Parts: sequence; structure tokens; C-alpha cells
Amino acid sequence: MSQATDRLPTWDLTLLYDGPGDPALERDLDRIVPLARSFRDAWRGRLAGAGAPDLLQAVEAYQEVVRAPLGPVAFAHLGFADDATDPARVALLQRVRELATAAHRETLFLPQELDRIDDERFARLVADPALVRYRHFLEQERAARPHRLSEPEEAVLTLKDLAGRAAFVQLFDQLTASFRYRFEVDGAERERTGSEMLALLKHPDRSVRRRAYEAFTAAYEREQVVLTSVWNALVLDHRQTLELRGYDDPMAPVHQRNEVTPRAVETLMAVTRDHYGLARRYYRWKAGQLGVDRLWSTDLVAPLPGPEPPPVSFDRARTWVVEAYEAFAPGFAAIARGFFDERRIDAPPRPGKSGGAFCMGVAPDLPVYVLLNFTGKVRDAATLAHELGHGIHFTLARAQPLLEYSPVLPLAETASVFGELLLARRLADEGLEPAVRRGLLAERIEDIIATTFRQNLYTEFEYRAHREGAGGYLPAERLCALWTEHLDAVYGDTVETVPASRWAWSAIPHFVHTRFYCYAYVFGELLVLALYRRYQEEGSAFAPKLRRLLEAGGSRTPGDLAAELGFDLEDPGFWAGGYAVLEGLLDELESLTGAKEG
Ligand SMILES: [Zn+2]
Repeated sequence: MSQATDRLPTWDLTLLYDGPGDPALERDLDRIVPLARSFRDAWRGRLAGAGAPDLLQAVEAYQEVVRAPLGPVAFAHLGFADDATDPARVALLQRVRELATAAHRETLFLPQELDRIDDERFARLVADPALVRYRHFLEQERAARPHRLSEPEEAVLTLKDLAGRAAFVQLFDQLTASFRYRFEVDGAERERTGSEMLALLKHPDRSVRRRAYEAFTAAYEREQVVLTSVWNALVLDHRQTLELRGYDDPMAPVHQRNEVTPRAVETLMAVTRDHYGLARRYYRWKAGQLGVDRLWSTDLVAPLPGPEPPPVSFDRARTWVVEAYEAFAPGFAAIARGFFDERRIDAPPRPGKSGGAFCMGVAPDLPVYVLLNFTGKVRDAATLAHELGHGIHFTLARAQPLLEYSPVLPLAETASVFGELLLARRLADEGLEPAVRRGLLAERIEDIIATTFRQNLYTEFEYRAHREGAGGYLPAERLCALWTEHLDAVYGDTVETVPASRWAWSAIPHFVHTRFYCYAYVFGELLVLALYRRYQEEGSAFAPKLRRLLEAGGSRTPGDLAAELGFDLEDPGFWAGGYAVLEGLLDELESLTGAKEG
């Protein structure tokens, strides 16, 4: 083991169960389905007519049903992440999933029966003090009510989806997963997968990057008949679904799920468009660093020349991160320390362990865990800050009941990305040599560009294609032209779009799997930057505000939470504050380079 990865902490899963043979685990597994059945037997057919006290009892019984599998779920997931090669762990995970699905099936009557309550009575019920703790949950369960069809209609749609939408998604997945590339690099020719080809976009040689990307998209171009047909079928399916369910905008169902107003998203997207110039400014700087007149679209994530940052020991990374949180709010640092003191963090890479990093917090009364693969890079310190940010969020939200515990997608990255910014600030005082700081800053800026401008361009392209697609089948040529137009809108003349990039739209799985998912990335990232801007302006007075936002978990909509803190998500000025932070990072980057350009 290298010095950097010495003495890394491992986690202690006995906070959940003593081990796979723990009788308590078996007992908990055995209760999952019976509990769901007794909930159904007690409440099915009774919810629509229930008064507030009964409804409260039903909701709490439902919450218990939802809670029942979560201890085993956490234990099984973490055990599997710990060692995926152990067949017993795979089997446990499978068993837990099946039990949870079976239990969930017994509860499907709940939203249907809530739907049957008329609006006036429902409004009276959720205003009742007895139900105030579950008001948001009940309202969200009912939110889709105006768009739900009758039970037999819903059943037919679910059934026909299997040979419709789901079949096209599967065709896309199977086809694109089958793509293989014979590709030569650095004198070695071998067969590679799509993700190995995309990893070559980080190769130091410019011509390798371009050649790799050309080979990658050529596979998609060759299958353009199928991919264009899939694209059009999914657009048609979405349009028909909107019509059947009475939505007036292609993004409306996603806004509902994300609990955000269309106006907030429009504002966010318009402000983002207005700041595309910041991406160009960065790419002009990067072209200078790479010694080229203009970047190619295959150079965007190319590595910068310069020294590798020195390796970082885990203890050092831990100290940086805890100090970064301490400087913001001692309470945050105390929560972060708990992960080490209670052994709820697992850091060393090892065979069989899951890759990457995650934080898992599934219920307010269960321990929160963090998994890392620490290799001694500065980047790993940022990952530690990120995952502990999630950990702080899951810990602070414990005041909420389980049904309102998890934040909606646009809020899910609030504490994690905020923590990365706090770490960046802490590292600015570390006296790292300028070339290393430049590399770290550039990495941070590229992350921001990828999650704001790039995801915004995805969303705008997708939206445009859905609206144009309403007029009929869009041929591949049209989709390529639309895609290129949207790329150019962001990069202008600072990036030359290589012909191979025209086909990138057909390779983005989000467009196929989860429509209009991408704006949530923009929302999440820019929200954090805008909050960070407030922190820069307000100093320590801001910390309790962020704490309140995190403590709320999933108990309020993002708009309501922001309003409680005095921010307005429909105000362009709020979002523009986020780009002021990015501008500050660019200023710093340019000043470190000593070549400030406009
Ligand atoms: Zn995250």
C-alpha cells in the first residue's frame, strides 16, 4: 500500500445488524410483507371517507410499511457495495428487493383512494393540525390527480407500455451496449467499449481524442435509421401521454415531480443562456493553455499541461474537509466527524468493492454511511467533501418523518456541492503552488460548465425537438442540425464543432430513459452557486439559513424553502448570483495564469 492510502478507515456495518446471520435481520425480513398486508386489510376502501384522526393513523401505518424494508435494504446494499463477488450478498440484495416490491404492491391503493377525496374536503383535511406533519406528503401524493386516468385506463397504459415505450428504450440500450470499437492508441490496437472510447477524450494527444470520438459516433451514425426511429417513437409517445393526461407542456410532468414551478425553470434557463459567454471565456483560456488557436469540440475535457498535484494522505484530506466545514459552521463539522468516530465511512479501494463514491441515508432513524475509493489524489479530497455534504444533509433532515425525509432531485446536491466549494476555499489558503491551484480551479470550472451550460443546452435541444416533433417525424439530418445549432449557441466561435459531434444527441441516454431530466442538474448546481454567493455576501449570518434548508429534507418544495430564507427562485437576480461565483473563479484562474483576457 502506498503512503497515501495507509490506515484508511473501514466501516462498521454492525450499527445495522451484527452480520448476515443476525436473527434480527431475519425477523425484519419476515415482517416486510405481512406488515404491508395488514395495512391493506385495515385501510383499503376506508381512506376516501376517513376523517383527520383516521387518516393520520393510516398515514403512520403506511409509513411503518415503507420503513420496514429499509434496514435490510441499507444492510444489503452496503454489504453488496463492500464485496459484490460474494454470492450470499448478491442473494440477500435480491431477496430484499423482491420483498420490498411485494410490499409496495399492497399499498398501491393509497394514492388512488386519496384521489377520490374531493378538493374541498381534502383542503380541510390537510389543514387539520393532526395532519400538519404529513401535509406535504399528502399534497404531493395528490399532485398528479388532475392528470390521472381511470383505473382500467391506467392498467391498459401500463400494459401497452411494455411493447411501446419500454420496448424502444430496451432496443436503444441493447443496440448501443453492443457497440464495440477496434481502436489503436499508443501503438496498441484492441477492442474497446463505448465508455472506454469516451475515456479517451482525456488522452493528452489531441489527434487521439478526435479520432476516438470520430470512431465512437460513427457507430451511432451507422445505426441512424434505428436511432432516429427510436427518438421519434419516444417523442410521439410523450406527446400522446401529455394529451391523454392533460398536460400543456412537454416538461410539465417533470416539473411536478421536481416540485418546481415552470416559471422558476424558465428563469433559470434564460439566465443560464445569458451567461454562455463565461463558457467561451474559459475555452479561450484553455485553448491558450493547450497552445491551439481554437479548441475542437473533442478538446473540452482534455487534460491541461502542468504538474500533477502531489499525493494527499487520507488524514490530510480529512483535516482539510473537517476544517472547511468548521469554518462554515461548527455544527456541520461535528456531523462530519461523526462519520469517522462511529466508523460510518469506508475509504480504501479493494477488489470486489464497488467503484466511485456514494452516501447512503435511507431513513431518519438509520445510520448514514459513506463509501469512497481513496487513492491519494486531491480530487479524492473533493469527493470526501462532497459525500460528507450528503451525510450532513441526511443527518440534519432527521427531524422530518420518513415520508418527508428525502429531498427532491433539484435539492439533492445542495450540501454536497456546497461542501466542495467550502473545500476549494480552504485549499486557497493552503499555499499550494500556482500550477497545482490552477489545475484544481480549472477542474472545478469544467465541472460547473458541464452541469450548467452543457445540461442547459441538452434541455433546450430536447425541448425544441419535442415541440418540432409535434409537427411530424424529424429526420436524422434535422436532429443533427438542431443539435449543432444548440452547441454553437453555447460555444460560439471559441470551439470548432468537429463533424463527428453532430451525432452526439443520439448517444445521450437521458433523452431516452428519463425525459427532461437534465435541467435538474442545472437547477441543483446553480442553486448551490447562488446560495454560495449569499454566503459570500452575508458571511456567518448565512450558515443558519443553509442549516434550515437542509433540515427541511423533503418536507417543502424548493420554492417554498427558498422563500422562507428570503430568496425568490423566479427572480433572475437570484440565479445570476450563481454565475457571479463562476466569474470569480474565472478571474482567479486568469490571475494565476497572469494572462487576463476579456
Ligand atoms: Zn452527490
